[in-house]
Amino acid sequence: MSAIRLPSLNTQIVLGASAGIGLGYAFRLTPDSNFSGNGLFVCGLIGGLFVDLLKMVLIPLIFTSIATGIANLRAHASMHRVWQCTLVYFLTATALATLLGLLSANIFAPGAGIEVTLFQQSMEHFDPSHLSLEEFFTHLLRGLFMNPVAAMAQGEVLPTVMFALLVGIGFVVSGENSQHLLTLLTELLHIVMLLVSWIMKLAPLGILGLLAKLTATQNPALFTGLGKFIAVVVGSTLAHGIIVLPLLLYLVTGVGPRRFFRGSREALTTALATCSSSATLPITMRCTEIQLGVSKDIARFVPPLGATLNMDGTALYEAAAALFVADLTGAELSLAQQVVVCFTAIIASIGAPGIPSAGMVTMVMVLQSVGLPAEAVAILLPIDRLLDTVRTMVNVEGDMIGSLIVQRLAANPDKNTS
Ligand code: ASP
Repeated sequence: MSAIRLPSLNTQIVLGASAGIGLGYAFRLTPDSNFSGNGLFVCGLIGGLFVDLLKMVLIPLIFTSIATGIANLRAHASMHRVWQCTLVYFLTATALATLLGLLSANIFAPGAGIEVTLFQQSMEHFDPSHLSLEEFFTHLLRGLFMNPVAAMAQGEVLPTVMFALLVGIGFVVSGENSQHLLTLLTELLHIVMLLVSWIMKLAPLGILGLLAKLTATQNPALFTGLGKFIAVVVGSTLAHGIIVLPLLLYLVTGVGPRRFFRGSREALTTALATCSSSATLPITMRCTEIQLGVSKDIARFVPPLGATLNMDGTALYEAAAALFVADLTGAELSLAQQVVVCFTAIIASIGAPGIPSAGMVTMVMVLQSVGLPAEAVAILLPIDRLLDTVRTMVNVEGDMIGSLIVQRLAANPDKNTS
């Protein structure tokens, strides 16, 4: 008798996501029942375990992939171009996203007409941890470098990235003298990627658990008052992910959206369910390398950097939310103030770690940069988990598109000048 053939992993993930949303609704329809109580517990456990597994491989993956990625760039004909193209792409894509956020918030004015007293209670209970621009910069810079062992043990992504970058540059400078260590790290990376492929087999179940819990625990009453804002943010984030980024990809590389989305589906669904670019990173790298066919040296360099530095969805959200808060409080932001929002939103997205609701913390800085009340974050917090799904998905998409674009530009320098 022939063995049962399971559908492809891609299909399993889509099925898991749909079943999770359906199950979440079923839990919501039967509150206080054993079914929803036990079901939510099991879903939370499975989803939590899946995220724990991804986090388990995250730090070794970031360190080995960035260090060996840079070392391998030495063999790349145009190492400097890879660096340049990566940074130029990150900035361009984030700036486009921020402008789109500002533009849609200006056009649709989602906060106009909403009664601010509606939120008075939540604002009274909010204690804003004041984070001025100077404090934010100091915090960011002081967090860049630390004892790498402590950083890795505490799961601190940014200092691990910095240490890996420096070790990678060390490999390039020392050349053949560090060949043994490079081989060792390359072999470690190989093993970590193998673990990732095992963890991926659990992705359909993990995503089912995460989405069931997310769907069951959202409060629909909160969404009515903020419906227009949610629609504007989700609509413009999706427009960036479905139109702007794929168009950029097509124009630079000729890769069409169908091929891209087929190859990136696993990472995008995982980002949606986990709300964390960092937790999704192992899967992002796998999709970039295996499904989208990006060469190892670039697929192991651009996504790990992008997971912390390149967040289009977060930048777009922060810009749109600042304008929303201005509308709510009746403040009219001048063009110059909107430019300040644009810059701080870009910086805030670079500084935000790839974890759930990180954008909410850096949001305080964007509000304060133009004198808006930081307490307004309390209005946005209850709906943040929902909005985080879409923005994290676009954050991760931007890293995969960036890898394809950098690969194209670094391979053909002439193309960049057109
Ligand atoms: N959750 C987002 C991410 O991991 C960050 C954010 O909160 O905007 O990419």
